[in-house]
Amino acid sequence: MDQEKRFLREAVGLARRNIETGGRPFGAVAVRNGEVIAEGVNQMLETGDPTSHAEMNALRLAAKRLGSARLDGVAIYASGQPCPMCLAAMRMAGITEIAYAHSNADAEPYGLSTAAIYAELAKPLGEQSMRFRHVPVGDTADPGLYAEWQQRQKKG
Ligand SMILES: [Zn+2]
Repeated sequence: MDQEKRFLREAVGLARRNIETGGRPFGAVAVRNGEVIAEGVNQMLETGDPTSHAEMNALRLAAKRLGSARLDGVAIYASGQPCPMCLAAMRMAGITEIAYAHSNADAEPYGLSTAAIYAELAKPLGEQSMRFRHVPVGDTADPGLYAEWQQRQKKG
């Protein structure tokens, strides 16, 4: 069997086992050098954590195991099409390869699609339904939050 499909079937298997324990139907595996280094399932319901998606949990565990927040060279195989939050988290961690077994179109009839959020996020910020504003509070005389951080970095 093709390796990619094997990882995807593993992710779907995790999703199935998660259903059996009352969870949502999502699983993911993180792979590096052809080896699964971390797994994750959706744990939103049991933890009450809205970010506890399968991919986020696989990312957290992979980062912990590798001892780095950078996950360059890691691929994620997910049972379902990653939502925009997970997509952004994977992107920010340096992941360059993602594959998923079930699309948003597959998920739509079950209320599990995030296509509407993808569409919303594709609009210019000012046209989105969420209020998202830049409200500066800083005194222009002070060096600023980021400059402070940069100075601290230089001191070591
Ligand atoms: Zn997600």
